[in-house]
Amino acid sequence: MTRCDNSPLLAYDEALRQLTAGILPTGRIVEQPLRQALGAVLAYSIEADIDVPGCAMSSMDGYAINTSDLAAGDSTRLPVSQRIPAGAAAEPLEAGSAARIFTGAPVPQGADAVIMQEQVKVDDNGISFSARPPSGDNIRPAGNDIKRGATILQQGCRLRAQDIGLAASVGRQSLPVYEPVRVGMFFTGDELVEPGQSLAKHKIYDSNRYTLHGLLSAMGCEIVDLGLVGDTLEETKTAMLSASTQADLVVTSGGVSVGEEDYVRIAIEKLGKLRMWRIGIKPGKPLAYGQINGTAFMGLPGNPVSVFATFCLFVNPVIQIMQGRPWRKPVAVPVTAGFDWPKPDSRREFLRARLVADAGQQTVAEIYPNQDSGVLTSTVWADGFVEIAENQTVTQGDTVDYLPFAQFFS
Ligand code: AMP
Ligand code: MG
Repeated sequence: MTRCDNSPLLAYDEALRQLTAGILPTGRIVEQPLRQALGAVLAYSIEADIDVPGCAMSSMDGYAINTSDLAAGDSTRLPVSQRIPAGAAAEPLEAGSAARIFTGAPVPQGADAVIMQEQVKVDDNGISFSARPPSGDNIRPAGNDIKRGATILQQGCRLRAQDIGLAASVGRQSLPVYEPVRVGMFFTGDELVEPGQSLAKHKIYDSNRYTLHGLLSAMGCEIVDLGLVGDTLEETKTAMLSASTQADLVVTSGGVSVGEEDYVRIAIEKLGKLRMWRIGIKPGKPLAYGQINGTAFMGLPGNPVSVFATFCLFVNPVIQIMQGRPWRKPVAVPVTAGFDWPKPDSRREFLRARLVADAGQQTVAEIYPNQDSGVLTSTVWADGFVEIAENQTVTQGDTVDYLPFAQFFS
């Protein structure tokens, strides 16, 4: 075990590397009907076993013609030999004629273009038109969207509405997905009171439970919520054991510092394996991680902004890997700083920030004025983090790295 009190700061990148190196996908696969698969992670890549569309189809209401029937000249007249609505099978096109056709209807054999109805005059003898369409005009060839044998969805993708729609378009009724990662959580602190209860002045409402619930739900996790746990070793051990037998990952808040009332650290030391890190980030106090009987454990600090930030930076990657998703370090967007940050810090800072248009309509990042790790308002005001490297200062107009929150909630 590495004690956190005097140990040197571990760099953010190194902490992330070590943490993610030890995590494996849970690998429980289930075949899920399409509607229930939304938000789940695809366990195998999906190949199309049909062409979409299966044959050439019209992309317009109009007339299917064979352009080689058209004589050179200004105007063409053709009789109409058949009518093909969407869903009907087409007869081959009679030579020297046009077929009335509608969007989504099969193009008859022998036709090579569809002329839009807006470009056609219709009378009792058929149609006339002056524009000569190029071959292939307004026709979607067979396989225009998907070719048989093509991989349409990649293993590890988190299924969105359009992914489900694409699976349906090749006739799939269900998809193989990973079962949700089960996350057990509890919250330590004798000062905590549940919303809805009356609050004495020396207590605070428990907000971390609700922030974490939202973050885990947004990631598609199944949550085992053990609620509030008092600051005693016995209560903490009981909650820890219970959570570890029901979950793939246990996440807690509070009680991981080195104070006498910090029982999460002690409970893990007694029940399993613990590592304590002092990570060189701000916000972010010591992060505890380890294992209890094969279940992964992450002990987040208690401060509400630290919970939010350490979830984004450390819990999110761990869950993504457990979910079977390919995890990549978040991609920062370079933006112009609309603020000064004159005090360098030996830790990497993740300032709560948002993008706004400045007076000259340029997009700049502004930061919440109070960056205290107890000020949860900053996370509501902000849309992302500005990441400031160790020992750096920022002057308005500098380019800084911006990490939108949205990428951590998916
Ligand atoms: P700790 O890490 O237990 O020392 O807690 C650090 C700070 O976070 C203290 O000010 C706690 O009151 C606060 N805190 C701990 N847990 C929660 C919670 N669930 N909701 C809101 N604040 C909390
Ligand atoms: Mg505490």
